[in-house]
Amino acid sequence: MVPVTVNPPAITAYPDALHGVEREIAAENRRIIIHLDMDSFYASVEVQRRPDLAGKPVVIGADPKQGKGRGVVSTCSYEARAFGIRSAMPISQAFVLCPHAIFLPPDFPAYTQASVAVMGILRSYGFLMEQVSIDEAFLDVSPVGNFPDAQARAEEIRAAIRNRLGLSCSIGIAPSMAVAKIASDFKKPNGLTVVPPAALQAFLDPLPVRKIPGVGKKAEALLLEMGIRTVGDLLGHDVQDLIGRFGRSAIALHQLACGNDDREIVDSHDVKSISRETTFDMDTDDPEVIISTLDLLASSVCDTLAEEQLRFKTLTLKIRYPGFITRNKSRSLSHYSRDPATVRSLVRILFREVYDGRKIRLIGIRLSSFEKTDALQATLCL
Ligand SMILES: [Mg+2]
Repeated sequence: MVPVTVNPPAITAYPDALHGVEREIAAENRRIIIHLDMDSFYASVEVQRRPDLAGKPVVIGADPKQGKGRGVVSTCSYEARAFGIRSAMPISQAFVLCPHAIFLPPDFPAYTQASVAVMGILRSYGFLMEQVSIDEAFLDVSPVGNFPDAQARAEEIRAAIRNRLGLSCSIGIAPSMAVAKIASDFKKPNGLTVVPPAALQAFLDPLPVRKIPGVGKKAEALLLEMGIRTVGDLLGHDVQDLIGRFGRSAIALHQLACGNDDREIVDSHDVKSISRETTFDMDTDDPEVIISTLDLLASSVCDTLAEEQLRFKTLTLKIRYPGFITRNKSRSLSHYSRDPATVRSLVRILFREVYDGRKIRLIGIRLSSFEKTDALQATLCL
């Protein structure tokens, strides 16, 4: 339960070679991003309201039916992970791995309520914030000015979530969104990993290439064949050779390996889209697994839609196959809707249209084109 700090909380000194306005620009560009990810969120919410579950393997997902159940694991506690259970794994396999685990059906209203509470705490700090899933958010804490102060703020946030909600989270602090996300995953659960600019490459170099966003099992295997095991190996490798193997995505890969990611945090207060996505632990072409995952994602976007009192018109389905190949397909309704059954049907229609039968690495749903509904309108629309 001790916070982990990868690097001494030293402030990065920019090279002395920079003077005057260049120095100011460098300081201006010094971004400090926090990524916060709740630990085994659904399972933790269950344990928090049922203390008798503490310390036990808890699996949220489909009914295992003594090993004959269909469907997948949604989330599991760290105690269940110790048995090899992972999210998106078939529930029957989870049952084989740990028959005495406590299997619970998901209670989305409870998780949504906990999520609203977590995000409320985060928002209360006043930073630019982007919620990226039910239990994950980025904060742009650049205004605090330096990494030690950002770390102090992160520790406050983590304590507030633990004290007020009884839930734990892991936090990464870095100069970019991609690295902050890698850092939050670095020491889970209850981790705090700080990567100031001066320590960036030292942090990334020893990581397995799989940790780079977008590198899946297949790309990893290809890279291993080329003798590339770590991020450092990747950077030491001839770029032209990488482009020969991976095409243009090699350039993006190389940029991420250097920790470069220019994406900016988009404040989720102006909701432009609501999206949820899941990366499968094992690539899958099992229709049961895929459809039940899509249903989970659909419930989750609908919960957010209701919370934000919005109605949507456009739905986009995203499928990523191994090897960075991503397919998006959108469809717009002729009218605004907030009906979960409509979302589920539209998702299935798009899935049938776009899916080509290959194994899938990641799947996601995005809603966009919103209309705000106030409470009265919402009632009239039902
Ligand atoms: Mg999480």
